[in-house]
Amino acid sequence: MTKMIQCISPVDGQVYAERPALSLSEAQMVAERARAAQAEWAARPLEERIALVKAGVAKLSEMKEQIVEELAWQMGRPTRYGGEFGGVNDRTEYMSSIAAQSLAPMVVEDSDRFLRQIAREPVGVVFIIAPWNYPYLTTINTLAPALIAGNTVVLKHASQTLLVGERLAEAFHAAGVPEDVFQNVYLTHDVTEALIQSRAFGFINFTGSVGGGAAIERAAAGTFTGLGLELGGKDPGYVMDDADLDAAVDSLMDGAMYNAGQCCCGIERVYVHESLYDAFVEKAVAWVKNLKLGNPFDAETTIGPMANKRFAYTVREQIAEAVAEGATALIDPALFPEDDGGAYLAPQILVNVNHEMRVMREESFGPVVGIMSVANDAEAIAAMNDSPYGLTCSLWTSDPGRAAEVGAQVQTGTVFMNRCDYLDPALCWTGCKDTGRGGSLSVLGFYSVTRPKSYHLKKVTK
Ligand code: NAP
Repeated sequence: MTKMIQCISPVDGQVYAERPALSLSEAQMVAERARAAQAEWAARPLEERIALVKAGVAKLSEMKEQIVEELAWQMGRPTRYGGEFGGVNDRTEYMSSIAAQSLAPMVVEDSDRFLRQIAREPVGVVFIIAPWNYPYLTTINTLAPALIAGNTVVLKHASQTLLVGERLAEAFHAAGVPEDVFQNVYLTHDVTEALIQSRAFGFINFTGSVGGGAAIERAAAGTFTGLGLELGGKDPGYVMDDADLDAAVDSLMDGAMYNAGQCCCGIERVYVHESLYDAFVEKAVAWVKNLKLGNPFDAETTIGPMANKRFAYTVREQIAEAVAEGATALIDPALFPEDDGGAYLAPQILVNVNHEMRVMREESFGPVVGIMSVANDAEAIAAMNDSPYGLTCSLWTSDPGRAAEVGAQVQTGTVFMNRCDYLDPALCWTGCKDTGRGGSLSVLGFYSVTRPKSYHLKKVTK
Protein backbone atom coordinates (compact mmCIF):
# COMPACT_ATOMS: atom_id res chain seq x y z
CA MET A 1 0.00 0.00 0.00
CA THR A 2 1.29 3.49 -0.84
CA LYS A 3 2.43 5.34 2.24
CA MET A 4 1.32 8.97 2.52
CA ILE A 5 3.75 11.53 3.90
CA GLN A 6 1.98 14.23 5.88
CA CYS A 7 2.72 17.73 7.06
CA ILE A 8 0.75 18.51 10.21
CA SER A 9 0.54 22.27 10.58
CA PRO A 10 1.66 23.62 13.95
CA VAL A 11 -0.73 26.53 13.47
CA ASP A 12 -3.88 24.45 14.00
CA GLY A 13 -2.73 20.84 14.35
CA GLN A 14 -4.46 19.84 11.09
CA VAL A 15 -3.04 17.99 8.09
CA TYR A 16 -1.85 20.79 5.82
CA ALA A 17 -0.46 18.69 2.98
CA GLU A 18 0.10 15.05 2.11
CA ARG A 19 1.86 13.32 -0.72
CA PRO A 20 2.34 9.66 -1.68
CA ALA A 21 5.83 8.34 -0.94
CA LEU A 22 7.71 6.64 -3.77
CA SER A 23 8.46 2.93 -3.62
CA LEU A 24 12.11 1.89 -3.84
CA SER A 25 11.80 0.95 -7.51
CA GLU A 26 10.13 4.26 -8.34
CA ALA A 27 12.86 6.10 -6.45
CA GLN A 28 15.53 4.14 -8.31
CA MET A 29 13.97 5.19 -11.58
CA VAL A 30 14.21 8.82 -10.49
CA ALA A 31 17.89 8.34 -9.69
CA GLU A 32 18.39 6.59 -13.02
CA ARG A 33 16.84 9.51 -14.91
CA ALA A 34 19.08 11.89 -12.99
CA ARG A 35 22.11 9.81 -13.94
CA ALA A 36 21.09 9.70 -17.60
CA ALA A 37 20.57 13.47 -17.76
CA GLN A 38 23.86 14.40 -16.14
CA ALA A 39 26.31 14.21 -19.06
CA GLU A 40 24.24 16.52 -21.26
CA TRP A 41 23.79 19.00 -18.40
CA ALA A 42 27.51 18.98 -17.59
CA ALA A 43 28.33 19.53 -21.26
CA ARG A 44 26.48 22.83 -21.31
CA PRO A 45 28.68 25.90 -20.88
CA LEU A 46 29.16 26.97 -17.25
CA GLU A 47 27.61 30.36 -18.01
CA GLU A 48 24.45 28.68 -19.24
CA ARG A 49 24.11 26.57 -16.10
CA ILE A 50 24.68 29.63 -13.93
CA ALA A 51 22.07 31.60 -15.86
CA LEU A 52 19.50 28.80 -15.46
CA VAL A 53 20.12 28.47 -11.72
CA LYS A 54 19.80 32.23 -11.26
CA ALA A 55 16.62 32.21 -13.35
CA GLY A 56 15.24 29.44 -11.12
CA VAL A 57 15.89 31.52 -8.03
CA ALA A 58 14.29 34.54 -9.70
CA LYS A 59 11.17 32.47 -10.44
CA LEU A 60 11.10 31.41 -6.80
CA SER A 61 11.13 35.05 -5.74
CA GLU A 62 8.10 35.63 -7.94
CA MET A 63 6.27 33.02 -5.82
CA LYS A 64 7.03 34.97 -2.63
CA GLU A 65 3.49 35.57 -1.42
CA GLN A 66 2.49 31.93 -1.77
CA ILE A 67 5.73 30.69 -0.23
CA VAL A 68 5.60 32.95 2.84
CA GLU A 69 2.05 31.82 3.56
CA GLU A 70 2.95 28.15 3.07
CA LEU A 71 5.97 28.47 5.36
CA ALA A 72 3.75 29.83 8.12
CA TRP A 73 1.35 26.88 7.77
CA GLN A 74 4.08 24.28 7.46
CA MET A 75 6.52 25.35 10.17
CA GLY A 76 4.96 28.29 11.98
CA ARG A 77 7.31 31.12 11.01
CA PRO A 78 5.57 34.51 11.36
CA THR A 79 4.72 35.98 7.97
CA ARG A 80 6.18 39.35 9.05
CA TYR A 81 9.65 37.86 8.44
CA GLY A 82 8.85 37.37 4.79
CA GLY A 83 10.50 34.08 3.81
CA GLU A 84 14.13 33.34 3.03
CA PHE A 85 14.55 35.17 -0.26
CA GLY A 86 17.35 37.56 0.80
CA GLY A 87 19.65 34.71 1.82
CA VAL A 88 18.67 32.46 -1.08
CA ASN A 89 19.45 35.25 -3.56
CA ASP A 90 22.71 36.28 -1.86
CA ARG A 91 24.03 32.74 -1.67
CA THR A 92 23.13 31.98 -5.28
CA GLU A 93 24.69 35.23 -6.47
CA TYR A 94 27.87 34.63 -4.52
CA MET A 95 28.29 30.99 -5.57
CA SER A 96 27.65 32.02 -9.18
CA SER A 97 30.24 34.78 -8.96
CA ILE A 98 33.02 32.43 -7.79
CA ALA A 99 32.04 29.42 -9.91
CA ALA A 100 34.43 29.93 -12.83
CA GLN A 101 37.39 30.46 -10.53
CA SER A 102 36.45 27.64 -8.14
CA LEU A 103 35.90 25.10 -10.90
CA ALA A 104 38.88 26.08 -13.01
CA PRO A 105 41.73 23.56 -13.16
CA MET A 106 44.66 24.18 -10.83
CA VAL A 107 47.56 24.30 -13.25
CA VAL A 108 50.79 23.06 -11.71
CA GLU A 109 52.86 23.17 -14.89
CA ASP A 110 52.12 24.24 -18.42
CA SER A 111 55.49 24.15 -20.17
CA ASP A 112 56.80 22.87 -23.49
CA ARG A 113 57.33 19.50 -21.74
CA PHE A 114 54.29 19.00 -19.55
CA LEU A 115 50.75 19.97 -18.78
CA ARG A 116 50.11 19.02 -15.18
CA GLN A 117 46.86 20.11 -13.60
CA ILE A 118 44.10 19.16 -11.20
CA ALA A 119 40.65 19.56 -12.72
CA ARG A 120 37.30 19.44 -10.91
CA GLU A 121 34.77 16.90 -12.20
CA PRO A 122 31.09 16.86 -11.20
CA VAL A 123 30.36 13.87 -8.93
CA GLY A 124 27.29 12.86 -10.98
CA VAL A 125 24.00 12.82 -9.07
CA VAL A 126 23.82 14.82 -5.84
CA PHE A 127 21.21 13.81 -3.29
CA ILE A 128 20.02 16.54 -0.93
CA ILE A 129 18.18 15.60 2.26
CA ALA A 130 16.91 18.82 3.77
CA PRO A 131 15.47 19.95 7.13
CA TRP A 132 12.41 22.07 7.79
CA ASN A 133 13.86 24.85 9.94
CA TYR A 134 15.24 27.00 7.08
CA PRO A 135 13.89 24.86 4.29
CA TYR A 136 14.87 27.03 1.31
CA LEU A 137 18.20 28.27 2.64
CA THR A 138 19.51 24.86 3.68
CA THR A 139 18.57 23.45 0.27
CA ILE A 140 20.04 26.24 -1.84
CA ASN A 141 23.43 25.83 -0.09
CA THR A 142 23.92 22.59 -2.03
CA LEU A 143 21.41 22.91 -4.85
CA ALA A 144 23.00 25.98 -6.46
CA PRO A 145 26.65 24.82 -6.45
CA ALA A 146 25.70 21.23 -7.38
CA LEU A 147 23.81 22.30 -10.50
CA ILE A 148 26.33 24.98 -11.41
CA ALA A 149 29.15 22.42 -11.18
CA GLY A 150 27.38 20.15 -13.68
CA ASN A 151 25.67 17.62 -11.42
CA THR A 152 22.05 16.63 -11.51
CA VAL A 153 20.13 16.77 -8.23
CA VAL A 154 17.52 14.71 -6.42
CA LEU A 155 15.94 16.47 -3.44
CA LYS A 156 14.14 14.83 -0.54
CA HIS A 157 12.71 17.50 1.72
CA ALA A 158 11.49 17.19 5.31
CA SER A 159 7.94 15.96 5.88
CA GLN A 160 7.27 19.09 7.94
CA THR A 161 8.03 21.25 4.89
CA LEU A 162 6.54 18.93 2.34
CA LEU A 163 5.78 21.60 -0.25
CA VAL A 164 9.21 23.24 -0.35
CA GLY A 165 10.85 20.79 -2.74
CA GLU A 166 7.79 21.03 -4.97
CA ARG A 167 8.04 24.82 -5.14
CA LEU A 168 11.78 24.72 -5.85
CA ALA A 169 11.29 22.21 -8.64
CA GLU A 170 8.38 24.21 -10.06
CA ALA A 171 10.50 27.40 -10.11
CA PHE A 172 13.60 25.79 -11.59
CA HIS A 173 11.65 23.92 -14.27
CA ALA A 174 9.73 27.07 -15.21
CA ALA A 175 13.11 28.78 -15.61
CA GLY A 176 14.26 26.11 -18.05
CA VAL A 177 16.20 23.63 -15.90
CA PRO A 178 15.28 20.25 -17.43
CA GLU A 179 13.00 18.10 -15.27
CA ASP A 180 15.46 15.23 -14.96
CA VAL A 181 18.27 17.59 -13.99
CA PHE A 182 16.48 18.58 -10.77
CA GLN A 183 13.88 16.23 -9.31
CA ASN A 184 11.94 16.51 -6.08
CA VAL A 185 10.91 13.26 -4.37
CA TYR A 186 8.81 12.16 -1.40
CA LEU A 187 10.49 9.34 0.45
CA THR A 188 10.17 7.40 3.66
CA HIS A 189 13.29 6.88 5.72
CA ASP A 190 13.47 3.20 4.71
CA VAL A 191 13.37 3.95 1.01
CA THR A 192 15.84 6.83 1.43
CA GLU A 193 18.32 4.53 3.12
CA ALA A 194 17.80 1.68 0.63
CA LEU A 195 18.31 4.09 -2.25
CA ILE A 196 21.59 5.26 -0.73
CA GLN A 197 22.65 1.65 -0.17
CA SER A 198 22.01 0.93 -3.85
CA ARG A 199 24.77 3.42 -4.79
CA ALA A 200 22.41 5.77 -6.54
CA PHE A 201 24.41 8.92 -5.80
CA GLY A 202 27.80 10.55 -6.21
CA PHE A 203 27.41 12.78 -3.18
CA ILE A 204 24.85 13.17 -0.40
CA ASN A 205 24.30 16.35 1.56
CA PHE A 206 22.31 15.69 4.71
CA THR A 207 21.30 18.60 6.91
CA GLY A 208 19.44 17.61 10.04
CA SER A 209 19.73 15.91 13.40
CA VAL A 210 22.69 13.94 14.70
CA GLY A 211 20.57 10.77 14.79
CA GLY A 212 19.48 11.26 11.18
CA GLY A 213 23.07 11.96 10.10
CA ALA A 214 24.26 8.77 11.77
CA ALA A 215 21.54 6.78 9.98
CA ILE A 216 22.59 8.23 6.61
CA GLU A 217 26.24 7.47 7.34
CA ARG A 218 25.29 3.86 8.15
CA ALA A 219 23.23 3.60 4.97
CA ALA A 220 26.16 4.87 2.89
CA ALA A 221 28.71 2.57 4.55
CA GLY A 222 30.60 0.55 1.98
CA THR A 223 29.23 2.49 -0.99
CA PHE A 224 32.06 5.07 -0.87
CA THR A 225 29.54 7.81 -1.53
CA GLY A 226 30.80 11.22 -0.46
CA LEU A 227 28.86 12.67 2.48
CA GLY A 228 28.33 16.17 3.79
CA LEU A 229 26.72 16.02 7.22
CA GLU A 230 25.52 19.31 8.65
CA LEU A 231 24.03 18.38 11.98
CA GLY A 232 22.89 19.80 15.28
CA GLY A 233 24.45 22.37 17.55
CA LYS A 234 24.40 23.87 21.03
CA ASP A 235 26.02 27.15 20.10
CA PRO A 236 27.45 29.32 22.87
CA GLY A 237 27.81 33.06 23.24
CA TYR A 238 30.54 34.51 25.45
CA VAL A 239 30.24 38.10 26.66
CA MET A 240 33.63 39.39 27.78
CA ASP A 241 34.12 42.19 30.30
CA ASP A 242 34.88 44.74 27.55
CA ALA A 243 31.79 43.95 25.43
CA ASP A 244 29.16 46.38 24.21
CA LEU A 245 26.49 45.08 26.54
CA ASP A 246 23.40 46.37 24.76
CA ALA A 247 24.56 45.05 21.40
CA ALA A 248 25.40 41.69 22.98
CA VAL A 249 21.97 41.35 24.61
CA ASP A 250 20.19 42.37 21.46
CA SER A 251 22.02 39.99 19.13
CA LEU A 252 22.33 37.03 21.45
CA MET A 253 18.68 37.09 22.51
CA ASP A 254 17.62 37.45 18.88
CA GLY A 255 19.96 34.55 18.05
CA ALA A 256 18.31 32.50 20.79
CA MET A 257 14.68 33.30 20.01
CA TYR A 258 14.40 34.01 16.27
CA ASN A 259 12.44 31.34 14.38
CA ALA A 260 11.26 30.12 17.83
CA GLY A 261 14.85 29.10 18.53
CA GLN A 262 14.85 26.64 15.64
CA CYS A 263 18.13 27.68 14.03
CA CYS A 264 21.05 25.29 13.68
CA CYS A 265 23.36 28.12 14.76
CA GLY A 266 20.90 29.64 17.22
CA ILE A 267 22.32 30.66 20.60
CA GLU A 268 21.49 27.97 23.17
CA ARG A 269 23.79 28.95 26.04
CA VAL A 270 25.41 32.20 27.12
CA TYR A 271 28.45 32.72 29.35
CA VAL A 272 28.83 36.23 30.71
CA HIS A 273 31.81 37.73 32.52
CA GLU A 274 30.88 38.11 36.18
CA SER A 275 31.30 41.92 36.01
CA LEU A 276 28.46 42.17 33.45
CA TYR A 277 26.39 39.15 34.45
CA ASP A 278 23.61 40.85 36.48
CA ALA A 279 23.17 43.64 33.94
CA PHE A 280 23.13 41.17 31.06
CA VAL A 281 20.49 38.98 32.68
CA GLU A 282 18.28 41.97 33.54
CA LYS A 283 18.41 43.30 29.99
CA ALA A 284 17.94 39.84 28.46
CA VAL A 285 14.78 39.29 30.51
CA ALA A 286 13.40 42.67 29.41
CA TRP A 287 14.24 41.80 25.79
CA VAL A 288 12.44 38.46 25.90
CA LYS A 289 9.38 39.92 27.65
CA ASN A 290 8.90 42.11 24.59
CA LEU A 291 8.35 39.14 22.31
CA LYS A 292 4.85 38.43 21.10
CA LEU A 293 3.92 34.75 20.88
CA GLY A 294 1.00 33.99 18.62
CA ASN A 295 -0.50 33.01 15.33
CA PRO A 296 2.14 33.44 12.60
CA PHE A 297 -0.36 35.25 10.38
CA ASP A 298 -0.83 38.09 12.92
CA ALA A 299 1.35 41.06 12.00
CA GLU A 300 2.43 41.64 15.64
CA THR A 301 3.59 38.05 16.20
CA THR A 302 7.36 37.84 16.61
CA ILE A 303 7.46 34.24 17.79
CA GLY A 304 5.20 31.66 16.24
CA PRO A 305 4.45 28.09 17.28
CA MET A 306 7.30 25.60 17.14
CA ALA A 307 7.19 23.55 13.95
CA ASN A 308 5.69 20.53 15.67
CA LYS A 309 4.27 19.97 19.10
CA ARG A 310 6.69 17.12 19.69
CA PHE A 311 9.59 19.61 19.38
CA ALA A 312 7.91 21.87 21.95
CA TYR A 313 7.43 18.87 24.20
CA THR A 314 11.20 18.24 24.24
CA VAL A 315 11.87 21.85 25.20
CA ARG A 316 9.20 21.82 27.91
CA GLU A 317 10.73 18.66 29.29
CA GLN A 318 14.25 20.13 29.31
CA ILE A 319 13.03 23.27 31.12
CA ALA A 320 11.03 21.31 33.71
CA GLU A 321 13.95 18.99 34.36
CA ALA A 322 16.40 21.89 34.78
CA VAL A 323 14.06 23.65 37.22
CA ALA A 324 13.66 20.43 39.20
CA GLU A 325 17.46 20.27 39.37
CA GLY A 326 17.79 23.83 40.72
CA ALA A 327 17.58 26.19 37.72
CA THR A 328 15.55 29.39 37.98
CA ALA A 329 13.14 30.24 35.16
CA LEU A 330 13.05 34.03 34.80
CA ILE A 331 10.13 34.40 32.40
CA ASP A 332 6.65 33.96 33.81
CA PRO A 333 4.72 31.92 31.22
CA ALA A 334 1.60 33.88 32.24
CA LEU A 335 3.08 36.75 30.20
CA PHE A 336 2.49 34.58 27.14
CA PRO A 337 -1.13 33.46 27.40
CA GLU A 338 -0.96 32.00 23.89
CA ASP A 339 1.21 29.14 25.28
CA ASP A 340 -1.21 26.24 24.78
CA GLY A 341 0.87 23.43 26.23
CA GLY A 342 1.38 22.25 22.64
CA ALA A 343 3.31 23.81 19.76
CA TYR A 344 2.83 27.38 21.06
CA LEU A 345 5.56 27.67 23.66
CA ALA A 346 6.48 30.70 25.82
CA PRO A 347 10.15 31.72 25.50
CA GLN A 348 12.28 31.10 28.56
CA ILE A 349 15.56 32.22 30.16
CA LEU A 350 17.15 29.91 32.72
CA VAL A 351 19.79 30.90 35.29
CA ASN A 352 21.39 28.88 38.08
CA VAL A 353 22.04 26.28 35.43
CA ASN A 354 25.01 23.95 35.16
CA HIS A 355 26.42 21.51 32.62
CA GLU A 356 24.91 18.50 34.36
CA MET A 357 21.53 19.69 33.10
CA ARG A 358 20.23 18.40 29.79
CA VAL A 359 19.21 21.91 28.74
CA MET A 360 22.88 22.94 28.79
CA ARG A 361 24.16 19.82 27.04
CA GLU A 362 21.60 18.60 24.50
CA GLU A 363 20.30 20.62 21.58
CA SER A 364 17.03 22.30 22.61
CA PHE A 365 16.18 23.75 19.19
CA GLY A 366 13.57 25.95 20.83
CA PRO A 367 13.05 29.34 22.50
CA VAL A 368 15.06 28.69 25.66
CA VAL A 369 18.51 29.84 26.68
CA GLY A 370 20.62 29.17 29.78
CA ILE A 371 22.91 31.91 31.10
CA MET A 372 25.94 31.33 33.34
CA SER A 373 28.52 33.64 34.91
CA VAL A 374 32.22 33.03 34.22
CA ALA A 375 35.30 34.53 35.90
CA ASN A 376 37.68 34.67 32.94
CA ASP A 377 38.44 33.55 29.39
CA ALA A 378 39.82 30.18 30.47
CA GLU A 379 36.59 29.32 32.27
CA ALA A 380 34.51 30.45 29.29
CA ILE A 381 36.61 28.44 26.83
CA ALA A 382 36.29 25.31 28.96
CA ALA A 383 32.51 25.79 29.20
CA MET A 384 32.10 26.43 25.46
CA ASN A 385 34.11 23.29 24.66
CA ASP A 386 32.22 21.17 27.16
CA SER A 387 29.76 20.05 24.50
CA PRO A 388 29.41 17.22 22.00
CA TYR A 389 28.68 19.84 19.30
CA GLY A 390 30.77 22.38 17.40
CA LEU A 391 28.94 24.60 14.90
CA THR A 392 29.55 28.25 15.89
CA CYS A 393 30.54 30.37 18.87
CA SER A 394 29.82 34.06 19.31
CA LEU A 395 32.39 36.18 21.16
CA TRP A 396 31.57 39.67 22.40
CA THR A 397 34.53 42.00 22.99
CA SER A 398 36.01 45.26 21.75
CA ASP A 399 39.39 43.56 21.36
CA PRO A 400 39.75 41.60 18.06
CA GLY A 401 43.07 40.14 19.24
CA ARG A 402 41.41 38.66 22.30
CA ALA A 403 38.58 37.26 20.16
CA ALA A 404 41.14 35.65 17.86
CA GLU A 405 43.00 34.13 20.79
CA VAL A 406 39.84 32.78 22.44
CA GLY A 407 38.37 31.69 19.10
CA ALA A 408 41.47 29.65 18.30
CA GLN A 409 40.82 27.58 21.43
CA VAL A 410 37.13 26.91 20.82
CA GLN A 411 36.25 23.66 19.00
CA THR A 412 33.81 24.99 16.46
CA GLY A 413 33.18 25.41 12.72
CA THR A 414 32.77 29.20 12.82
CA VAL A 415 33.94 31.91 15.24
CA PHE A 416 31.88 35.10 15.28
CA MET A 417 32.92 38.32 16.95
CA ASN A 418 30.15 40.76 17.89
CA ARG A 419 27.54 38.95 15.81
CA CYS A 420 25.91 35.52 15.66
CA ASP A 421 23.42 33.30 13.89
CA TYR A 422 24.49 34.21 10.36
CA LEU A 423 25.82 32.42 7.27
CA ASP A 424 28.35 34.24 5.12
CA PRO A 425 28.33 32.62 1.65
CA ALA A 426 32.01 33.51 1.18
CA LEU A 427 32.96 31.41 4.22
CA CYS A 428 32.73 27.67 4.57
CA TRP A 429 29.69 26.50 6.55
CA THR A 430 31.00 23.59 8.54
CA GLY A 431 31.11 21.98 11.95
CA CYS A 432 33.15 19.64 14.07
CA LYS A 433 32.47 16.91 16.65
CA ASP A 434 28.84 15.69 16.47
CA THR A 435 27.90 18.64 14.28
CA GLY A 436 29.23 16.58 11.42
CA ARG A 437 31.70 17.00 8.63
CA GLY A 438 32.21 18.48 5.22
CA GLY A 439 31.40 22.03 4.24
CA SER A 440 29.03 24.00 2.09
CA LEU A 441 29.18 27.50 0.56
CA SER A 442 32.42 29.29 -0.37
CA VAL A 443 34.95 27.78 -2.77
CA LEU A 444 34.99 24.69 -0.54
CA GLY A 445 31.27 24.19 -1.22
CA PHE A 446 32.19 23.57 -4.86
CA TYR A 447 34.81 21.05 -3.77
CA SER A 448 32.12 19.01 -1.97
CA VAL A 449 30.12 18.52 -5.18
CA THR A 450 33.09 17.85 -7.44
CA ARG A 451 35.97 15.42 -7.37
CA PRO A 452 39.56 16.16 -8.25
CA LYS A 453 40.92 14.68 -11.49
CA SER A 454 44.62 14.91 -12.20
CA TYR A 455 46.06 15.34 -15.69
CA HIS A 456 49.72 14.48 -16.17
CA LEU A 457 50.36 15.08 -19.86
CA LYS A 458 53.83 14.71 -21.27
CA LYS A 459 54.32 16.57 -24.49
CA VAL A 460 56.21 15.09 -27.41
CA THR A 461 59.47 16.90 -27.97
CA LYS A 462 60.94 16.83 -31.42
P1 NAP B 1 15.90 15.44 10.99
O1 NAP B 1 14.74 14.91 11.71
O2 NAP B 1 17.20 14.73 11.12
O3 NAP B 1 15.46 15.51 9.45
C1 NAP B 1 16.26 16.10 8.45
C2 NAP B 1 15.92 15.48 7.12
O4 NAP B 1 16.40 14.14 7.12
C3 NAP B 1 14.43 15.35 6.83
O5 NAP B 1 14.24 15.44 5.45
C4 NAP B 1 14.11 13.96 7.33
O6 NAP B 1 12.98 13.40 6.74
C5 NAP B 1 15.35 13.21 6.92
N1 NAP B 1 15.71 12.06 7.74
C6 NAP B 1 15.89 12.04 9.08
N2 NAP B 1 16.27 10.79 9.49
C7 NAP B 1 16.33 10.03 8.36
C8 NAP B 1 16.63 8.66 8.11
N3 NAP B 1 16.95 7.84 9.09
N4 NAP B 1 16.58 8.23 6.84
C9 NAP B 1 16.24 9.06 5.85
N5 NAP B 1 15.94 10.36 6.01
C10 NAP B 1 15.97 10.85 7.25
O7 NAP B 1 16.17 16.98 11.35
P2 NAP B 1 15.10 18.15 11.38
O8 NAP B 1 14.28 18.01 12.60
O9 NAP B 1 14.42 18.24 10.07
O10 NAP B 1 16.04 19.40 11.49
C11 NAP B 1 16.50 19.92 12.69
C12 NAP B 1 17.93 19.51 12.92
O11 NAP B 1 18.72 19.94 11.83
C13 NAP B 1 18.54 20.16 14.13
O12 NAP B 1 19.31 19.23 14.81
C14 NAP B 1 19.43 21.26 13.54
O13 NAP B 1 20.49 21.65 14.36
C15 NAP B 1 19.89 20.60 12.30
N6 NAP B 1 20.34 21.57 11.31
C16 NAP B 1 21.67 21.71 11.10
C17 NAP B 1 22.14 22.65 10.21
C18 NAP B 1 23.61 22.86 9.99
O14 NAP B 1 23.96 23.63 9.11
N7 NAP B 1 24.51 22.21 10.72
C19 NAP B 1 21.23 23.47 9.52
C20 NAP B 1 19.87 23.30 9.76
C21 NAP B 1 19.43 22.33 10.65
P3 NAP B 1 11.54 13.49 7.45
O15 NAP B 1 11.25 14.92 7.68
O16 NAP B 1 10.64 12.87 6.47
O17 NAP B 1 11.65 12.72 8.74
